[in-house]
Amino acid sequence: MDLPEVHHFPPDAPLAVLTTQPLDRVLDYRAPEGGAQIGDFVEVPLGPRKVLGVVWGPAESDLPPTRLRRVERVLDVPPMRDELRAFLARAADYTLTPRSLMLFLATRAPGLFQGQAMRRVYQLGDTPPERMTDARARVLEVMTGYGGAALTLTEITRAAGVSASVVQTMASQGALIEAETPRDTPYPRLDPARPGKELSPDQAEAATRLRAAQGDFGVTLLKGVTGSGKTEVYLEAVAECLSKGRQALVLLPEIALTAGFIERVEVRFGARPAEWHSGVTMTERRRLWRMVGQGGAQMVVGARSALFLPYRDLGLIVVDEEHDSSYKQEDGVLYNARDMAVLRASIAGSQVVLASATPALETWVNSETGKYARIDLHARYGVAELPDMRAIDLRSEDLPSGRWISPSLKTAVQTRLEAGEQSLLFLNRRGYAPVTTCRACGHQVQCHQCDARMVEHRFQQRLMCHKCGATAPIPTACPSCGVEGRMHAVGPGVERLEEEARAAFPDARVAVLSSDLFASARALKAQIEAIAEGEADIVIGTQLVAKGHNFPHLTLVGVIDADLGLHGSDLRAAERTFQLMRQVAGRAGRAERPGLALLQTHQPDHPVIRAILSGDEEGFWRAEAAERQSLGMPPYGRLAGIILSSPKPEELFEFAQALAARAEPLLRIGAQLYGPAPAPVARVRGRHRVRLLIKAARTVPLQAAISQWTAQLKPPHDLRIAVDIDPQSFW
Ligand code: ADP
Ligand code: ZN
Repeated sequence: MDLPEVHHFPPDAPLAVLTTQPLDRVLDYRAPEGGAQIGDFVEVPLGPRKVLGVVWGPAESDLPPTRLRRVERVLDVPPMRDELRAFLARAADYTLTPRSLMLFLATRAPGLFQGQAMRRVYQLGDTPPERMTDARARVLEVMTGYGGAALTLTEITRAAGVSASVVQTMASQGALIEAETPRDTPYPRLDPARPGKELSPDQAEAATRLRAAQGDFGVTLLKGVTGSGKTEVYLEAVAECLSKGRQALVLLPEIALTAGFIERVEVRFGARPAEWHSGVTMTERRRLWRMVGQGGAQMVVGARSALFLPYRDLGLIVVDEEHDSSYKQEDGVLYNARDMAVLRASIAGSQVVLASATPALETWVNSETGKYARIDLHARYGVAELPDMRAIDLRSEDLPSGRWISPSLKTAVQTRLEAGEQSLLFLNRRGYAPVTTCRACGHQVQCHQCDARMVEHRFQQRLMCHKCGATAPIPTACPSCGVEGRMHAVGPGVERLEEEARAAFPDARVAVLSSDLFASARALKAQIEAIAEGEADIVIGTQLVAKGHNFPHLTLVGVIDADLGLHGSDLRAAERTFQLMRQVAGRAGRAERPGLALLQTHQPDHPVIRAILSGDEEGFWRAEAAERQSLGMPPYGRLAGIILSSPKPEELFEFAQALAARAEPLLRIGAQLYGPAPAPVARVRGRHRVRLLIKAARTVPLQAAISQWTAQLKPPHDLRIAVDIDPQSFW
C-alpha cells in the first residue's frame, strides 16, 4: 500500500486533507489544538465555508505552518481505516475519478458533522409520584410493561395516551429518571449458530468449500441455475464469516429483491440485517454508517453503494446475480460494483462470492484460468426441473400487424389457463409503444432535448423520454404537420401487450410488472407476492421479472421478442441476450410442475438463439470467449470509452478532433484510438455527445496514459469529459 508512515500530527503540524469538494487534489492545513491523526474526519475552512474532509497524509507543500489555515476540529467519528483509504485511492486511480469524489461516496450519511446524536429517554425512578392520577398510573403501567426499558417522550405519551407535561412533572418529582443515550443503536444480533435448512449433498459440498475459504482474500464463482439453492449456500458462508466475528455484505442488483431476502436472513439467523440503498431513510443511514464502523452491524444487505461503507472488519462480500448490468454505475462515478468488490476484498482480506446462473463472460474466463475458484450447483432443489426451451418461428406464424402474441404462443397460454397454471409474457420494453408517428406526414415524436423518440406511457397518459425523463402530453395533432387525429402508436411495450392479452384472454387475470408502474418499492413487492401466491393467470413483465423472484405457479414463459437484444453493435449483445433469455426461462417450473419456455424469433438459426435453446452453456461461453480473444476484446483486451459532451456542437467536434490528434501518450502504450464519432444517442438534455474508444492490451498502464492524454488540452468551459473504464454500454 502506498500509504505514508506518519500517523500522528502534533498541534500546528502541517498535514494534507482530502475534502469532499470537487477538487482533484488534497489541501494542506495545520493540525488543530489536540493534534490529529491520519484518517481523522475533520472540519476544515475552505474559502468562506467549512467542509468535511479526512486527514490523508503529510502536507504536500513546503509552506511554513503559519501560512496554513488550521483544521477547525476533529469530528466525533472513528477515523477512517487504512483499508478504506487505500480502497478509495485505488478505486479512484482505476476509474480515473478524483479521490474527493470517491470520498464523497464514502461519506453519504447525514449528520457526520453533528457528532454522536443523542436523545432523551426516561426510565422508572425509585420514588412513586407525589399524587397518583389516572394519567400517571397509565405512565407507570407502560413503563413496567416495557420491563424497565428506557423510552422516549413520544413513545411514552403515545403508549400511555398522556400529554408531555405529565411525563415531565413525573420526572421532576423523581418518579421517572431522565437520561441521554446515543440515538444510533446497534442492530439486533444475528446468530450464525442457528441451524440452516438441511442441504442436499451438492449444496452441502458447496457450503463446506465456501466455509473453508473464509478468512483470507479469494474469489469464488458460485454457479447454479435459478432455484438450485445458491442463496441457501452462500448464507452458510455468511454464517461462517459472522461466527469469526467479521462482517458480511450482500449486494443485490434490485431494491425490490431486498425485502424477500431480508426475511430469509431473519429466518436463518434470527434477526434482520442492516439495509442500505436509496429507499432507506436518512436516520437509518446515519445509524448504519456509524454502526458498521463500530461493529454494531454484522451484516449489510444493499445496493452497490454499500461497498463504500466504513466496515470495521469486512470478511465477506456476496455479489448476487453478479452478471447484472445494474452493478455498473452509469452516471457520476462510473464504476462496476462487482469489480470494486473484488478490489476492496483484496485490500480488506475478505472473501468474495459471485453468484449467478449466467455469469458474466469476464467472470467465466477468470474461473477458467483459475484466478477465481468455481463451485457448481448442478440441479434445482427438490423436483423442479429446468424448463424445456423451444423457438416459435415468427416467419411462419400468422400474426397481423399490431399484434405480438403468435397463435402458437396463444395456444400454449390457453392450455396453462385451463390447467390453472401461470404464464409469463416477457417483453423488455416499458410503456405502451416505443414510437408515436403521424400517419399524415410520417413524423416521429422526439424529445426536444434528446436524440431519442418519446415513448408512450398510456397508464400515465404521457409521452416520456427514457433518456432524460422529460414528459409531454400525448398529442392529438401532429406536432410537425398539425393534422388532427392521425397520431399512431408503433411497436409494442408491456402496456400494449397487456391490452392484447386482455383481449385475447378475457377471463384471465392479467398483472403487469414494470418498474415505472409502481409508486413505491412496497407496492411492487406486494404485487410480486400476490403473483407468487397465484393471484394472476398471466404476468406481463420487463426484465424486472428476470431477477431472482420465485413464482411457484408459473409453468410457461413466452418471450415476445427474443431478437430484441441481438440488434445493434454492442460488444455484449450476444452475452446479454443469452443471460437474459436463460434467466427469464428460469422463472418457469420452479415447483412440482415442469416448465416450458417459448421464444418468439425471426431468426431461429441465429447462433445465439441456437445456443440458448440447446442449453449448451459452456459451449456458448467457449465460442464467445474465443471470438473476444481473436478481436482482443475484453476480458482479453481492455476498453475505455471517452464521452465528450457540450451544448455547443462545433466546439465539441473541434475539441474532440484536437484531442484525437494528440494521441501520442496512448500510442506509446500500444493502444488504439477510434473516433471521434457522434454518439449513438447524439444529444441528451440539450448536450451534444461525441465518443472516442480506446482499445489496449490487458497489461499496459492504460489509466496513466489516458490521464496524460487528456491533460494535454484544457477543455472549453461547459465541455465535459467522462472516462468510462471497462464500459458496459456504448450509447
Ligand atoms: P437460487 O438462489 O439458486 O435461485 P434459492 O436459494 O433461492 O436458489 O433456492 C430456491 C428455493 O428452494 C428457495 O425457496 C429455497 O428456500 C429452496 N431451497 C433451496 N435449497 C433448499 C434446501 N436445502 N432445503 C429446503 N429448501 C431449499
Ligand atoms: Zn429527453
